[in-house]
Amino acid sequence: MEGRFGIHGGQYVPESLMGALKELEDAYNFYKNDPTFQEELTRLFNDYAGRPSRLYFANKLTRELGGAKIYLKREDMNHTGAHKINNVLGQALLAKKMGKTHLIAETGAGQHGVASATAAALMDMECTVYMGQEDIERQALNVYKMQLLGAKVVPVTSGTGTLKDAVSEAMCAWGRCVTDTHYCLGSSVGPHPFPIIVRDLQAVISKEIKEQMMVAEGRLPDVVMACVGGGSNAIGTFYHFIDEPGVRLIGCEAAGRGVDTLETAATISTGDVGIFHGMKSYFCQNEDGQIAPVYSISAGLDYPGIGPEHAGLYDSGRAQYVPVTDDEAVAAFEYLSRTEGVIPAIESAHAVAHAMKIAPTMDKDKIIVITLSGRGDKDCAAIARYKGGKLYE
Ligand SMILES: *Cc1c(COP(=O)(O)O)cnc(C)c1O
Repeated sequence: MEGRFGIHGGQYVPESLMGALKELEDAYNFYKNDPTFQEELTRLFNDYAGRPSRLYFANKLTRELGGAKIYLKREDMNHTGAHKINNVLGQALLAKKMGKTHLIAETGAGQHGVASATAAALMDMECTVYMGQEDIERQALNVYKMQLLGAKVVPVTSGTGTLKDAVSEAMCAWGRCVTDTHYCLGSSVGPHPFPIIVRDLQAVISKEIKEQMMVAEGRLPDVVMACVGGGSNAIGTFYHFIDEPGVRLIGCEAAGRGVDTLETAATISTGDVGIFHGMKSYFCQNEDGQIAPVYSISAGLDYPGIGPEHAGLYDSGRAQYVPVTDDEAVAAFEYLSRTEGVIPAIESAHAVAHAMKIAPTMDKDKIIVITLSGRGDKDCAAIARYKGGKLYE
């Protein structure tokens, strides 16, 4: 069945949303094979977002760790500073083709809200962003950016007033305004066809890695790895390697203060199968099956679930998922900054941290590619505070 990954995925939504999902699926199936759509998307990727992003050989990092060769896939160099622009440009273009005039989006830390507001400004669309009240207070700068870009930010006070509540609210709101509105979902999660649309748009990452690696080394890498929140930069990094059995796929989850504590967001390590946000997948839940509050130092990884395609790749054993704690991610954030002069997003630092563990155990002729999902400017004040410093934003 379409939109299933083993037992995961599906469309667990109220009947009132089924029409909207069907309309989106039909439109997407048409436009993904439409050469004009693909040309326009490529032009936006290249001229606006700055693609292709570089595949950079991290010489110093490799030498210091003393094992496998490490390459960085530089999604942090994209316009707006992360991989999220790939997804929003594609969805906004699709929405435009469908005759929609309005984008709605959810956001946690505000990164996807800013990306959506950016795409809406560029494409002359209205934009409404649902954001938890708690997050609005924590992320004032991103709220300002969204408003500067012309978007309206709607506070969500239900539940814990954070990302999961913003997703629920955006999905509900979409049901009331589907005729002129597209729901620009921010990760490879939610009901079919969202996980497939977001994956296809982010798959440009692995397509480029493959081509760039053939030029640089004349062969495929041994490991590709990325951090996993909902899983969009990771599935984009994995996609064109799924059918290459010689390439190991590793997703790095946010363990927060540790997988043996309640302050964690490591879904594969600590979660169970459940149904939430329109999909079957793994979720962090309490003993009643309610969604558990999750925690990570990294706002972008602070989601209680994981995309259904990752859940399927985990079940089949094709991909491996590892937990990385706050402390390990912060150490990697500092280490990459010092060794390569690259300040990674704290999300991306989770993948760097795991590479620091495995690279020294691998032979020097092996190759690792780490996707740097974003840049770390946004995290500097928080990390300084975490380390006990006083830095005011
Ligand atoms: C949002 C975000 C993530 C997490 O989202 P995925 O869908 O798991 O990729 C990771 N890194 C950065 C920089 C982000 O902004």
